[in-house]
Amino acid sequence: MPHDRDENAQADPRWLARLSGEIAAAVAASPDRDAFPAEAFALLRRHGLSERPPVASGSGLSLLRLLAAVGRGDLAVGRLFEGHVNAVDLIRRFGSARVRSEVGAQLADGALLGVWNTDARGDPLRLEGGRLAGKKNFASGVDGLSSAIVTVPEPAGRQMFLVRLADAAVDRSWWRPLGMAASGSHIVDFSGLPPEAITPLGEPGDYIAEPWFSGGAIRFAAVHVGGMEAVMDAAVEHLTKTGRAEDPHQAHRIGRMGLAVASGNLWLREAAEAWDAAEAAAGADPEASRLRATANGFRSLVEHSAMSVLEEAERAVGAAGFNAPHRLERLIPDLRTYLRQPNPDGALTAYAKALVAGETGAGGSGIGR
Ligand SMILES: Cc1cc2nc3c(=O)[nH]c(=O)nc-3n(C[C@H](O)[C@H](O)[C@H](O)COP(=O)(O)OP(=O)(O)OC[C@H]3O[C@@H](n4cnc5c(N)ncnc54)[C@H](O)[C@@H]3O)c2cc1C
Repeated sequence: MPHDRDENAQADPRWLARLSGEIAAAVAASPDRDAFPAEAFALLRRHGLSERPPVASGSGLSLLRLLAAVGRGDLAVGRLFEGHVNAVDLIRRFGSARVRSEVGAQLADGALLGVWNTDARGDPLRLEGGRLAGKKNFASGVDGLSSAIVTVPEPAGRQMFLVRLADAAVDRSWWRPLGMAASGSHIVDFSGLPPEAITPLGEPGDYIAEPWFSGGAIRFAAVHVGGMEAVMDAAVEHLTKTGRAEDPHQAHRIGRMGLAVASGNLWLREAAEAWDAAEAAAGADPEASRLRATANGFRSLVEHSAMSVLEEAERAVGAAGFNAPHRLERLIPDLRTYLRQPNPDGALTAYAKALVAGETGAGGSGIGR
């Protein structure tokens, strides 16, 4: 497919479906399936997607559809691309003119970024005498990123730092996951970094400023929608190839998977609209509350739907789906692992509270008003 950098062309669903296929092919051709997916990122670079992801105001739907398409191609690539997009967006919002211009030049050179908020147990990242000490856990993509945004708790609030990773010490012994191995979510020790490798980003508290912090969950939920669509694709392809798709029991499984994926996509559209509306309102209520409610509803719906799609696909395909090179052999553990995101119980509780308080839209569930 031509390396089309035109944003309108990239919004076309057929273009996005081809992109998913290209990512899946790039990952399948990789000599080490658990290593950083360099070929897939070379492809995203050639399309201009790492340099200029659609994060500008009003691009919510383009961004979420793109994230879903990347996740449909490969979930580890989706996880890493989502982190990159998050970092680019945080720099757009909170970076000084100098930081924005420096990072802009690095992105043009192909730089990839991440956001690492999760602290290693027992040795959290902290500031000691103006230098970083301690570790981050789940530092996705460390083997392929040039810089990352890390967060440090300070008395005035959680402070972001943009950190160059060339001298960071990586502990790869901890990461032995069921799925998502290629996300390379290792432990990184920042204690030896020179002060010039560290730049403060924004003010204390900016990272967790609402509605953007809770609302940002719509990005990973969009990647999960792509993941469940990939699981459904693989199951339907298997049933069609084996002549089993017409069987009435299998037809019901296909129907239920289709309904779950379609619901995810409807919520994705609603989430994009809520994000754009909150941006247009500069984060003020009622659009801020609507975004938080929609994000909490979207991620809860997607977690539930994706688990049901996984069960349907496992039952529909049977043991064949657990044996490489069947595509499900990798998709099932990847999606099951990546679905584990922070505070799922709290997200559903917050959605329920918003529903009771009427913050999800005109007295409804928050969708299809
Ligand atoms: C593949 C992958 C890549 C990742 N990459 C990154 C990254 O690049 N950067 C980053 O910052 N993070 C990353 N993460 C970490 C992620 O954002 C979450 O922090 C992590 O997945 C939390 O998962 P957990 O299930 O261990 O959480 P937990 O919070 O332990 O949740 C487990 C269960 O306990 C419940 N629970 C939570 N708190 C309480 C409580 N106080 N009392 C009772 N129950 C509770 C939850 O609702 C849930 O049911 C990644 C995670 C994965 C899986």
